[in-house]
Amino acid sequence: MNNYCINLKKRKGKPFCKLLNTEIRLSECFSCKNAQYKERKIYKLKKQTTRHKKADSSRFSIITNDLEHCIICGRKKEALHEVFYGAYRHVSIKYGMIIPLCLNHHTQGKFSVHNDRELDLYYKRLAETIFISKYSYELYMKEFIIDYLKKD
Ligand SMILES: [Zn+2]
Ligand SMILES: [Zn+2]
Repeated sequence: MNNYCINLKKRKGKPFCKLLNTEIRLSECFSCKNAQYKERKIYKLKKQTTRHKKADSSRFSIITNDLEHCIICGRKKEALHEVFYGAYRHVSIKYGMIIPLCLNHHTQGKFSVHNDRELDLYYKRLAETIFISKYSYELYMKEFIIDYLKKD
């Protein structure tokens, strides 16, 4: 694949522009504002979209099947929150201890998981309960160390 405009053709051994319908010099073609490099651009765009989707689909949750809407209010999600964040963030991602949240319920509002301790604890307990029924209490304690169901 080359870098030439799609309107650039060769006629009688000379560069010819289909758009201007005349013979041109190559340098004119390179500085032309109407130059179209269609195929190249579309190709690049497609590649990026695929990579984006891949990163998103590798995230899963054992708490909810809907990762598009805030688990609290149902508005469009702004972030995927790791229930056990900080040091256990990667373990959370590994087991799908993840919930979708809008900006307000994630970090902005007073009633958000990062600002309201009770709300934070509620989802930690919920996640722990689901994890234990899916795997085991032993595995939970091995991975997350703190039993939030016994903590107050
Ligand atoms: Zn919300
Ligand atoms: Zn968060």
